[in-house]
Amino acid sequence: METQPVISNTPVATPDAFLAKLLEVADRIASEGDLQAIQPLLDMTSAHSQSPIATALAESFARMVVKLEAREYELECTIKDLLAVKAELERANYDPLTGLPNRVIARDRLHQGVLYARRNNRELAVLYMDLDKFKWVNDNMGHPAGDELLQQVAQRGKACIRDSDTLARLGGDEFLCVLPNIDGQQAAEELAQRFVDTMNQPFTLRDGVAKIGASVGIAMFPAHGTSVDQLIEFADAALYFAKHAGRNVYRVFQVEEAKAG
Ligand code: GH3
Ligand code: MG
Repeated sequence: METQPVISNTPVATPDAFLAKLLEVADRIASEGDLQAIQPLLDMTSAHSQSPIATALAESFARMVVKLEAREYELECTIKDLLAVKAELERANYDPLTGLPNRVIARDRLHQGVLYARRNNRELAVLYMDLDKFKWVNDNMGHPAGDELLQQVAQRGKACIRDSDTLARLGGDEFLCVLPNIDGQQAAEELAQRFVDTMNQPFTLRDGVAKIGASVGIAMFPAHGTSVDQLIEFADAALYFAKHAGRNVYRVFQVEEAKAG
């Protein structure tokens, strides 16, 4: 009896069909990043392993996909590393509670501001602010309410200044504002009064309303100090006098007052 040829169930791919599949795989990898798209091509090739060129092409594609997968993994690791570095930088430079820059950035901006002011013959102001009777909020409404209030203080403070100014939280209820390129002491005093006024408005917190205030000390470059340390120290000294004047006010640094104090 004559033997019948075995007929494969897999449809035989014409060269055009194979090339069309190759094109489809390449398109899906290029446009959708779909690395799984390679599988039907490999299946098709194994069903037609008699074509060495088709096999070689499919294998070459498979190697490319493996490489791409490895690159994708490397990229994911690099992104993870970069995000970790970014988080660490944020921890080092920003206050996690308020999102404001911390002392490190405040000093750096002040340093840059002093250099700019010196070169351009401009003035610069440093405002040192400490909230009045802030402990009352912690003691009577709880620490979380105090935290919430500090966050609102940051928002109100930022609303008073320009993008080119810096409001930083030094720690506790102390804030430092650097105003580079300010138009004289009068402008600094007006801003300090705005800080005092806005912090004196009631704060609506989740568990009630809190009324506090703020005292502010001002030091000017170059009139009062010319270095970062001097300007911060003198603004702090002026703040001390604002507190002693009864709080809820600002004071400008006075050499005589500082000597006497
Ligand atoms: P004064 O009018 O003299 O400035 O007194 P004050 O009540 O504002 O208190 P003071 O400035 O001496 O101290 C600030 C307090 O802020 C001390 C501390 O208990 C509290 N504090 C510091 N850091 C935080 C914080 O992150 N969250 C909260 N809720 N409280 C803080
Ligand atoms: Mg205080």
